[in-house]
Amino acid sequence: MAEYLNINTLIEFNPAIAEMEDGEQLSMRHPECPAGDDGRKVLFVKKHGAKHLAFCHHCGQKGILTGDQSFIRRGGQNLLIEKDLHLPPDLTFEPTKQPVEHIMWLHQHGIDDMTRRLYDIGWSEHWGRTILPVYGDEGKLLAFQRRNVLRGDFGPKYLTTRLAHIKNPVFRAPRSELAERKPGILVLTEDILSSIKIDKAGFYSWSLLGTYMTNSVVDEIAAAQFDQVIIWLDDDNEAVRRSQKVMRRKISQIADARIMRHRDLSIRKEDKSDPKMFTPNEIHTAIRSRLA
Ligand SMILES: [Zn+2]
Repeated sequence: MAEYLNINTLIEFNPAIAEMEDGEQLSMRHPECPAGDDGRKVLFVKKHGAKHLAFCHHCGQKGILTGDQSFIRRGGQNLLIEKDLHLPPDLTFEPTKQPVEHIMWLHQHGIDDMTRRLYDIGWSEHWGRTILPVYGDEGKLLAFQRRNVLRGDFGPKYLTTRLAHIKNPVFRAPRSELAERKPGILVLTEDILSSIKIDKAGFYSWSLLGTYMTNSVVDEIAAAQFDQVIIWLDDDNEAVRRSQKVMRRKISQIADARIMRHRDLSIRKEDKSDPKMFTPNEIHTAIRSRLA
């Protein structure tokens, strides 16, 4: 059991932490508090110089975060917004220049060299992270994600940079110019690798880069004329389960919408239920039985 609070993780629950001034203090609920989450805001975070100090009065865990403020700010927002978007200039696809952790992470989820090239998934030494681009129509870059894969990287799992006017960039698999299948079933996921995996199983898949969906995505689904939509997120917490229900309600206006629940899956992967943990065959079976 973790004895220390990871403040970068807390920032994902409470982005205000990243914006704190020196001497400022806030209190919040301790998500998944080992002493039992009773909904009270008894986790205190204080900004002290360049450091953040945290203490939960319920379970007694504490944490400290030191380091570069701009990094914390980025981590906290988990999102950067640019008027003009470019992939990192040092992005490389050269296998010998990519660290083994990056290759392993992709390999572990069935992403081979050909797939990496198809989706321009590469490595940026500057960021020390795996780069996952998100393209829109005609190959226009809408956003890109930086995924941590290195052992010493304690930042948030994903950092996303998106174009200022694209509020909810969507990753599409297969890439639109390669789409030959008729639209029928669309599977919505949280993360890019899951969508690539679902495409390998023979279904269209869009990744929301998170667990939130704006109405603009509903309009895009309607415009693309999908008639069945499966929402398949990693539903391991209540917030995601709530979010799934909101999505289903919105999409139901335009298509048959269903949620893939963890408990619906006959095969379990280390208690994870996001699609990238499954083989294309297992995905195919899961989707077919959900639609049956
Ligand atoms: Zn606690």
